[in-house]
Amino acid sequence: MGIQAWELRGAGAAPRTVSAASASGALEAAPAPDAEPGTAPVAGLDWEALRERVAHCSLCELHATRTQTVFGVGDRAAELMVVGEAPGADEDRQGEPFVGRAGKLLNEMLLAIGLQRPQVYIANILKCRPPNNRDPQPGEVACCEPFLQRQVELVRPRVMLALGRVAAHNLLKTQDSLTRLRGRDHCYGDGRIPVVVTYHPAYLLRSPQDKRKAWQDLLRARGLLTGAAESP
Ligand code: SF4
Repeated sequence: MGIQAWELRGAGAAPRTVSAASASGALEAAPAPDAEPGTAPVAGLDWEALRERVAHCSLCELHATRTQTVFGVGDRAAELMVVGEAPGADEDRQGEPFVGRAGKLLNEMLLAIGLQRPQVYIANILKCRPPNNRDPQPGEVACCEPFLQRQVELVRPRVMLALGRVAAHNLLKTQDSLTRLRGRDHCYGDGRIPVVVTYHPAYLLRSPQDKRKAWQDLLRARGLLTGAAESP
């Protein structure tokens, strides 16, 4: 299965505007939780201190099986923050999120809305690889969540892009299906940062027929970034 190029389309593919849910004020806002005992204490940490804290973290059992932590990468003042699930085998080896085939597709998706990879900030819900790429467990997410929360505080993105079910569920504190979450307005944290939910690139590699829907999601993100779409 080859990776198709993503292209920025013309005026015929106008960004989506706010949904009926937004118009009716029915928004889903998920709180950015405070650090609790047993989770990572991160308040006030700057980038280097935060990276160091992650690199030596042993708060959950995943520290025992990781090759290295995968902190995050990109522009620390990015307008768009991309959030995925957890490192896979390639990421665990290289220490960078979204490398390999899924990373290449993510790069193409970003380019399609006029963004180079270094212009966004990319991070995951978990900083260590779950064995055999299993889903993150709730206890692991609870331990690791403050790291991502602090990254969001430091980047202060205008828009967040949640890649896949696990990222969406944990950012938005919901169990709704991806089908229900896509195309709707969501916010993250006290800053009410708009969140766009779309498919994980690894899923799109397996299911290229859904790239068209992902394209609609990307247009939604671009609309929020450019102001063509109203923030929730
Ligand atoms: S996944 Fe997060 S909480 Fe668990 S050991 Fe790695 S950095 Fe620490």
